[in-house]
Amino acid sequence: LLAALRGPVAPESWRGALPITYRVGPGPARVHMKVKSNWDLKPLYNVIARIRGSESPDEWIIRGNHHDGWVYGAADPVSAVDALLEEARGFSELLKQGWKPRRTIVYCVWDGEEQGLLGSTEWAEAHAAELRRHAAVYINSDNNGRGFLSAGGSHSLEKFINDVARDIEDPETGLSVWKRLQLLRISEGPGESRREARQRPDLRISALGSGSDYTAFLDHLGIASLNLGFGGESEGGVYHSIYDDNYWYLQFGDPNFSYGRAMAQTIGTAVLRLADADILPYEFSGLAETLRQYTAELQRLLEGKQEEVRERNRQIEEGVFAATMDPKNKTVLPKAEAIPPYLDFASLLNGVEALRLSADRYETAFANASRNGGGTLAGARSVNQTLIETERRLTDSRGLPGRPWYKHMVYAPGMYTGYGAKTLPGIREAIEQKKWLEANAEIGFVGRMLSEEAALIDRATAIIEKAVKTTEKQNQ
Ligand SMILES: [Zn+2]
Repeated sequence: LLAALRGPVAPESWRGALPITYRVGPGPARVHMKVKSNWDLKPLYNVIARIRGSESPDEWIIRGNHHDGWVYGAADPVSAVDALLEEARGFSELLKQGWKPRRTIVYCVWDGEEQGLLGSTEWAEAHAAELRRHAAVYINSDNNGRGFLSAGGSHSLEKFINDVARDIEDPETGLSVWKRLQLLRISEGPGESRREARQRPDLRISALGSGSDYTAFLDHLGIASLNLGFGGESEGGVYHSIYDDNYWYLQFGDPNFSYGRAMAQTIGTAVLRLADADILPYEFSGLAETLRQYTAELQRLLEGKQEEVRERNRQIEEGVFAATMDPKNKTVLPKAEAIPPYLDFASLLNGVEALRLSADRYETAFANASRNGGGTLAGARSVNQTLIETERRLTDSRGLPGRPWYKHMVYAPGMYTGYGAKTLPGIREAIEQKKWLEANAEIGFVGRMLSEEAALIDRATAIIEKAVKTTEKQNQ
């Protein structure tokens, strides 16, 4: 089929190793393809285990990994689901010693991930109403190997997961996994991210697109999520193939399982802290700063489009395309088009600024409360209930334009990027697709949403401030 294609030569990264010149088509050969699929219905099995919270059973910390694999699935998913099982075993030991978590912990092992995140999506949809009320955080993993921690997810959890990573020892270097990741970022550059890795208190986490079981929790239900794993040193090449088996894993994956242990320690620690924290450890300054970055990216994206069209129109007028085309290899000449209009980002910028101010106030109040030392904060319960709402507030029940299932307004897989993330997707994709009216509407909408998010954080701040004042009075 590939040999039958003509047309331009494919870009280098698209070429394989066959002894042919790779071309992108079209034709000239016509192909009649008959696809036979197996449409049998098969049962899928999720396994769900719970430890009921002793003080706040209606606040849930959820942890999941899929258990199905394409073939043997030693790396994907067994290398990570075995860490999950080890965490669960650890919690069962703690329970025997009399420990009781403050919040409810839910451990989930998903089926049917490879066929389309089926197990986790069905479960999340079936329990949508209770999850929206109770779920505080979802932590996902998928596969694991030797190397460096990789963390993606909700930026309100960026500081939290940085703090966890500072306390876990990297099995190969004896450094903390945080330190090792920081040094990797410094070694990789470029200049700006090197400077940031040295100076910013927390290492950045990436935005999540799709491709694993966090998708329904984050994108559909608006539950603050993290996706965690180690990697970067294990040999690749076996992904989703018959070679991803036990022999390969013991030779090349993580032969002594030391990174399996590191994953169980990292995520086990995260679950333990989330389940037992007096106040849920969300933080919003990093979120506000990240959103300001995304906004600047959108402004640059629009400027880039304007510049591109302006320059192309000029070259069309100058006759550049007609003069430089090879007449023996004719292509279609571009037509002049309208220069993209300026968009009004004010609403979005104001929303981000409101969020930044609210985040600052929240952190000050939280620091004051912590300084007052130990003891459960009066009103902690309503603070937590309010905090749980903060990720939900970044969703809209109508969903993204053209794909209503995706309700998160900050993170989504791109319409055309497969697993790849698009941040502020409603606005970004409208700009990319030159839908200017839609882009303007989405900017206004997301800006208002961020202002509401700020107001919600202010509510949590007010409860903490009041509690701090009461304690101060009592201490006088
Ligand atoms: Zn997987």
